[in-house]
Amino acid sequence: LWTIAHYQRISADPHADWTPHVKIFAGKAAPGYVVAKDIIRLINDVAHVVNSDPITRDKLRVVFPPNYSVTMAEHLIPAADLSEQISTAGMEASGTGNMKFALNGALTIGTLDGANVEIREHVGPDNFFLFGLTADEVAARREVPAHSRAAIEASPALQGVLHAIASGAFSPDEPGRYASLVDLLWSSDWFLVASDFDAYDAAQQQVDRAYRDPNAWQKMAIANIARIGYFSSDRAVREYMTEIWNAGSAR
Ligand SMILES: *Cc1c(COP(=O)(O)O)cnc(C)c1O
Repeated sequence: LWTIAHYQRISADPHADWTPHVKIFAGKAAPGYVVAKDIIRLINDVAHVVNSDPITRDKLRVVFPPNYSVTMAEHLIPAADLSEQISTAGMEASGTGNMKFALNGALTIGTLDGANVEIREHVGPDNFFLFGLTADEVAARREVPAHSRAAIEASPALQGVLHAIASGAFSPDEPGRYASLVDLLWSSDWFLVASDFDAYDAAQQQVDRAYRDPNAWQKMAIANIARIGYFSSDRAVREYMTEIWNAGSAR
């Protein structure tokens, strides 16, 4: 959704001094997970429109490499500048991919979910782009009636994005293709995408500013690499042995 908002902003002001982005999405959906498959299709549709637009193509590209695998991860992760760990706080969905990115020198933009919390503690809050609701705030927000409608109505950027998707801007051959996906965001939005959207947008603007200072960016990247050793599998296995398996060490 943010990629679409960014695309709309560049289109409206193509000569501004934009920090270029290549947004790489990868992942898989279980065969029966209809919403996930819709999202993957939408990313591919957005990529088609954005990458063939001569006005924006030097400032924004969208890529969805198919069949994400360990071999592909070995290429993508060391090449990444920014690791997007944007799962809703409390879902415990940020597990190990986030560690692989940080130890290979990518900075993280992320929520306080799963291992993001510990990564941020270890690399330092100044070397991590934090955004979004906490797990407690997520639980409270879900109790607010019509929370997603309120969040969308408070965010002109998000409104513009949802309107574009719903009107078929990315699926002109089938304008209604994403009607149910958009409806889901207006009506229920379990993952609080609408409620976190503006905070994510602000964090992305911080990222763009930071990226323009290569020395400062490299300093942050090196701090990530240097301080990520805690996540060593040796340490994790030793901890499992003593605390969970109650097994003695061979040494
Ligand atoms: C690390 C890895 C995962 C798990 O990533 P998470 O971000 O922890 O969910 C999945 N697939 C591949 C190929 C990986 O390398």
